[in-house]
Amino acid sequence: MEIRLSPRASIFWDNSGAPFVHFYGLDRSGGWGGILRLPNWKAVAREILPHLPEVDDVDDALAQLEELRAVFIEIGDILLALAQQRSSLLYEICGMGNASVDSVRAIWLAHRHQTTTQAAKREITKRRRYQFNRERDVLMLRLIESGVPYVCAIDGCPVSEDLTIDHVLALSRGGADELENLRFLCQPHNSEKGDRDA
Ligand SMILES: [Zn+2]
Repeated sequence: MEIRLSPRASIFWDNSGAPFVHFYGLDRSGGWGGILRLPNWKAVAREILPHLPEVDDVDDALAQLEELRAVFIEIGDILLALAQQRSSLLYEICGMGNASVDSVRAIWLAHRHQTTTQAAKREITKRRRYQFNRERDVLMLRLIESGVPYVCAIDGCPVSEDLTIDHVLALSRGGADELENLRFLCQPHNSEKGDRDA
Protein backbone atom coordinates (compact mmCIF):
# COMPACT_ATOMS: atom_id res chain seq x y z
CA MET A 1 0.00 0.00 0.00
CA GLU A 2 1.19 3.49 -0.82
CA ILE A 3 -0.12 6.65 0.81
CA ARG A 4 0.48 10.12 -0.58
CA LEU A 5 1.75 12.33 2.25
CA SER A 6 2.20 15.68 0.62
CA PRO A 7 2.80 17.07 -2.86
CA ARG A 8 6.31 15.75 -2.50
CA ALA A 9 6.22 12.42 -0.84
CA SER A 10 4.42 9.15 -0.31
CA ILE A 11 4.87 6.60 2.36
CA PHE A 12 4.80 2.91 1.53
CA TRP A 13 5.73 -0.38 3.06
CA ASP A 14 8.33 -2.85 1.92
CA ASN A 15 7.71 -6.62 2.07
CA SER A 16 8.87 -6.79 5.67
CA GLY A 17 6.35 -4.09 6.63
CA ALA A 18 8.97 -1.37 7.23
CA PRO A 19 7.74 2.11 6.26
CA PHE A 20 9.63 4.04 3.60
CA VAL A 21 9.23 7.51 2.17
CA HIS A 22 9.28 7.92 -1.59
CA PHE A 23 9.96 11.39 -2.97
CA TYR A 24 8.44 12.70 -6.19
CA GLY A 25 9.10 15.63 -8.40
CA LEU A 26 7.58 18.89 -7.28
CA ASP A 27 4.38 18.94 -9.34
CA ARG A 28 2.23 16.05 -8.10
CA SER A 29 -0.75 16.90 -5.94
CA GLY A 30 -1.58 14.70 -3.00
CA GLY A 31 -4.65 14.13 -0.90
CA TRP A 32 -3.79 11.79 1.97
CA GLY A 33 -1.63 14.27 3.86
CA GLY A 34 -4.67 16.56 4.11
CA ILE A 35 -7.15 13.77 4.83
CA LEU A 36 -5.07 12.43 7.72
CA ARG A 37 -5.32 15.83 9.39
CA LEU A 38 -9.12 15.94 9.29
CA PRO A 39 -10.91 15.28 12.59
CA ASN A 40 -13.08 12.71 10.75
CA TRP A 41 -10.17 11.30 8.73
CA LYS A 42 -11.14 7.71 9.48
CA ALA A 43 -14.62 8.08 7.99
CA VAL A 44 -13.17 9.72 4.89
CA ALA A 45 -10.49 7.03 4.55
CA ARG A 46 -13.14 4.30 4.92
CA GLU A 47 -15.00 5.73 1.93
CA ILE A 48 -11.88 6.05 -0.21
CA LEU A 49 -9.92 2.87 0.60
CA PRO A 50 -12.35 0.36 -1.08
CA HIS A 51 -11.81 2.18 -4.41
CA LEU A 52 -8.01 1.83 -4.35
CA PRO A 53 -6.82 -1.17 -6.39
CA GLU A 54 -3.86 -1.75 -4.06
CA VAL A 55 -6.12 -2.21 -1.02
CA ASP A 56 -7.43 -5.78 -0.51
CA ASP A 57 -8.65 -5.44 3.03
CA VAL A 58 -10.12 -2.10 4.09
CA ASP A 59 -9.99 -2.81 7.83
CA ASP A 60 -6.37 -3.88 7.58
CA ALA A 61 -5.46 -0.77 5.55
CA LEU A 62 -7.28 1.42 8.04
CA ALA A 63 -5.43 -0.22 10.94
CA GLN A 64 -2.10 0.46 9.19
CA LEU A 65 -3.14 4.06 8.60
CA GLU A 66 -4.10 4.55 12.20
CA GLU A 67 -0.86 3.05 13.45
CA LEU A 68 1.34 5.22 11.28
CA ARG A 69 -0.72 8.42 11.18
CA ALA A 70 1.65 10.20 13.59
CA VAL A 71 4.56 9.31 11.32
CA PHE A 72 2.73 10.60 8.20
CA ILE A 73 1.94 13.86 9.90
CA GLU A 74 5.45 14.29 11.25
CA ILE A 75 7.15 13.60 7.92
CA GLY A 76 4.51 15.69 6.08
CA ASP A 77 5.21 18.57 8.48
CA ILE A 78 8.93 18.27 7.92
CA LEU A 79 8.54 18.42 4.14
CA LEU A 80 6.05 21.27 4.34
CA ALA A 81 8.32 23.27 6.66
CA LEU A 82 11.27 22.71 4.35
CA ALA A 83 9.20 23.65 1.28
CA GLN A 84 8.06 26.87 2.97
CA GLN A 85 11.66 27.77 3.83
CA ARG A 86 12.68 26.76 0.28
CA SER A 87 15.35 24.88 2.16
CA SER A 88 18.21 23.28 0.30
CA LEU A 89 17.75 20.47 2.81
CA LEU A 90 14.51 19.56 1.01
CA TYR A 91 16.46 18.97 -2.18
CA GLU A 92 19.02 16.99 -0.22
CA ILE A 93 16.27 14.76 1.18
CA CYS A 94 14.44 14.52 -2.17
CA GLY A 95 17.71 13.47 -3.77
CA MET A 96 17.65 10.39 -1.58
CA GLY A 97 14.74 8.90 -3.53
CA ASN A 98 13.44 6.12 -1.30
CA ALA A 99 14.43 6.88 2.26
CA SER A 100 13.49 5.26 5.52
CA VAL A 101 11.31 7.33 7.80
CA ASP A 102 14.04 7.15 10.43
CA SER A 103 16.66 8.59 8.10
CA VAL A 104 14.40 11.54 7.15
CA ARG A 105 13.72 12.19 10.81
CA ALA A 106 17.46 11.99 11.64
CA ILE A 107 18.38 14.48 8.89
CA TRP A 108 15.66 16.87 10.04
CA LEU A 109 16.69 16.68 13.71
CA ALA A 110 20.35 17.26 12.86
CA HIS A 111 19.34 20.28 10.74
CA ARG A 112 17.13 21.68 13.50
CA HIS A 113 19.82 21.20 16.15
CA GLN A 114 22.35 22.93 13.94
CA THR A 115 20.01 25.87 13.28
CA THR A 116 19.07 26.39 16.93
CA THR A 117 22.69 25.98 18.06
CA GLN A 118 23.84 28.67 15.60
CA ALA A 119 21.06 31.02 16.73
CA ALA A 120 22.00 30.52 20.40
CA LYS A 121 25.64 31.19 19.61
CA ARG A 122 24.80 34.42 17.73
CA GLU A 123 22.69 35.62 20.65
CA ILE A 124 25.40 34.91 23.23
CA THR A 125 28.07 36.62 21.10
CA LYS A 126 25.82 39.66 20.71
CA ARG A 127 25.48 39.96 24.50
CA ARG A 128 29.22 39.46 24.98
CA ARG A 129 29.99 42.25 22.48
CA TYR A 130 27.60 44.59 24.27
CA GLN A 131 29.24 43.75 27.61
CA PHE A 132 32.74 44.24 26.14
CA ASN A 133 31.83 47.57 24.50
CA ARG A 134 30.62 48.92 27.85
CA GLU A 135 33.96 48.03 29.46
CA ARG A 136 36.13 49.06 26.52
CA ASP A 137 37.56 52.32 27.93
CA VAL A 138 38.33 50.76 31.33
CA LEU A 139 40.05 47.81 29.66
CA MET A 140 42.09 50.14 27.45
CA LEU A 141 43.40 52.01 30.52
CA ARG A 142 44.15 48.76 32.34
CA LEU A 143 46.09 47.45 29.31
CA ILE A 144 48.21 50.63 29.24
CA GLU A 145 48.67 50.52 33.03
CA SER A 146 49.87 46.92 32.76
CA GLY A 147 52.69 48.08 30.49
CA VAL A 148 51.32 47.25 27.01
CA PRO A 149 52.57 49.98 24.63
CA TYR A 150 49.89 51.95 22.78
CA VAL A 151 50.94 50.79 19.33
CA CYS A 152 49.51 48.19 16.91
CA ALA A 153 50.62 44.72 18.04
CA ILE A 154 51.36 43.51 14.50
CA ASP A 155 55.13 43.31 13.92
CA GLY A 156 56.40 46.28 11.93
CA CYS A 157 53.09 48.19 12.00
CA PRO A 158 53.82 51.74 13.24
CA VAL A 159 50.22 52.90 13.82
CA SER A 160 49.68 54.38 17.30
CA GLU A 161 46.42 56.30 16.84
CA ASP A 162 42.77 55.26 17.12
CA LEU A 163 43.74 51.74 18.15
CA THR A 164 41.14 49.08 18.79
CA ILE A 165 41.19 46.35 21.42
CA ASP A 166 41.47 42.91 19.87
CA HIS A 167 40.64 39.58 21.51
CA VAL A 168 43.50 37.16 20.78
CA LEU A 169 41.09 34.23 21.26
CA ALA A 170 38.11 35.72 19.42
CA LEU A 171 35.16 36.92 21.48
CA SER A 172 32.83 34.83 19.27
CA ARG A 173 34.79 31.72 20.31
CA GLY A 174 34.51 32.40 24.02
CA GLY A 175 37.58 34.63 24.33
CA ALA A 176 37.50 36.50 27.68
CA ASP A 177 38.02 40.20 28.43
CA GLU A 178 41.13 39.30 30.48
CA LEU A 179 44.23 41.43 29.88
CA GLU A 180 46.21 38.34 28.75
CA ASN A 181 43.66 37.88 25.95
CA LEU A 182 43.66 41.53 24.84
CA ARG A 183 46.02 43.56 22.67
CA PHE A 184 45.96 46.76 20.65
CA LEU A 185 45.45 46.59 16.90
CA CYS A 186 45.12 49.39 14.36
CA GLN A 187 41.76 49.46 12.60
CA PRO A 188 43.00 48.01 9.28
CA HIS A 189 44.73 45.09 11.03
CA ASN A 190 41.67 44.44 13.21
CA SER A 191 39.24 44.31 10.28
CA GLU A 192 41.67 42.14 8.34
CA LYS A 193 41.64 39.68 11.23
CA GLY A 194 37.84 39.61 11.52
CA ASP A 195 36.44 36.88 13.78
CA ARG A 196 39.48 34.63 13.60
CA ASP A 197 41.80 33.88 16.49
CA ALA A 198 45.27 35.44 16.37
ZN1 LIG B 1 48.48 47.66 12.39
